[in-house]
Amino acid sequence: MNKDEMNKACRLLNDLISIYSPYFKEHEISEFVYRRMMDIGANPVKQEVTEARDYNYKCANVISTLNFDKAETILINAHMDTVYPTEGWTYPPLKGSLVDNEVYGLGSADMKGGLVSLLLTLEECLKRIAEGMEPSFNVVFLASVDEEGPYSMGAKTFIRSKYADNVDFSIVLESTRGLSSSNLSFPAIAHGSRGCYLYEIKVTGKSAHAADPASGANAIDAMAEIISGIKKIPLEKHEPFDDPVSNVIWINGGERALSTPEKCSILVDFHVTPSEDPARLKTRIAEMLRSLNLDAKTEVNYMKDDLGEPMIYNPYLLDRKNRYIDLLAKTCSKREGKVAFVTSMCVGDFNHFAGKGIPTVVLGPDGENLHRADEKVNLADVVKLKDILTELIFWKQLK
Ligand SMILES: [Zn+2]
Repeated sequence: MNKDEMNKACRLLNDLISIYSPYFKEHEISEFVYRRMMDIGANPVKQEVTEARDYNYKCANVISTLNFDKAETILINAHMDTVYPTEGWTYPPLKGSLVDNEVYGLGSADMKGGLVSLLLTLEECLKRIAEGMEPSFNVVFLASVDEEGPYSMGAKTFIRSKYADNVDFSIVLESTRGLSSSNLSFPAIAHGSRGCYLYEIKVTGKSAHAADPASGANAIDAMAEIISGIKKIPLEKHEPFDDPVSNVIWINGGERALSTPEKCSILVDFHVTPSEDPARLKTRIAEMLRSLNLDAKTEVNYMKDDLGEPMIYNPYLLDRKNRYIDLLAKTCSKREGKVAFVTSMCVGDFNHFAGKGIPTVVLGPDGENLHRADEKVNLADVVKLKDILTELIFWKQLK
């Protein structure tokens, strides 16, 4: 591995990790990425991403396109936000620490390592174009916001825009290993992903004095039964995906007065396979609620996104023979002597691209401890990924 390239990637990764950028706080990193693209001679645009109902949010995706009037367009995506720092770090979370070819830091794998690969690929492409080479595809480079936040507003804003209209294939540079339960190492292509359906369940009971609960209907007691019932709802398995799972991820109810609580709400997430269907699952939840014969009234609804649409991450599985996947796999094999195929157990912006009908894969550097202390990414993979993407973009023999 070329030492200068490694050093350059390491410096850029360190710059990105040093910018505090949890979701909803991506302004500085968005500006940094925009300036970086300007500095390397790209023509970036800021795509405004706004939300006024719940979070009063305003930030910007950064997009750079290579448009050569080709018949086909590839999207390369990395998100700029991270989760909020957790407890227990032994390395400083907001400074890159290079140890044995791995860089520790918040967002190193999820996904500032991939963001470095994206920026270096763009730079390499511009260099080759300046030397007279012509890409085999039009390419859209998208650095997006709010991937870790509740509504995926960056990806959804992009999908609704003209930039997404002609995209034939997208590659999301998340750490494949970090998203997969398998131990297959770089380069591993995730050609499918579990999805996620989110439902809000509301219970309305009857308030009474806490000294006399029998005259009321305790909404929290009812919810306790519902939570047990959720775990028993059968979910559809589907090879080669990890088994589906459910989690209650939020609860709200009661007050501090000595009263029987009247209201309680929960948010339930189901990580599902492509054999599951959101409407059928909603019906199953409703059947379970009926079977409990509760005193309290119950209601089940989809969680809504910023536009009031159901917040659904579509599960999907693509045929490995898809010609773009095949071409990417061949490029990986040619450069690295191997390639692995996996499916993602997690969800992300890739589900939304796939849900829009764009064949989408995840291919990213090896990383570990995503959303936890001591997150790290393999630095050599970051550079190798740049080489794979560049080779793909200048591939001439696609039939
Ligand atoms: Zn991510």
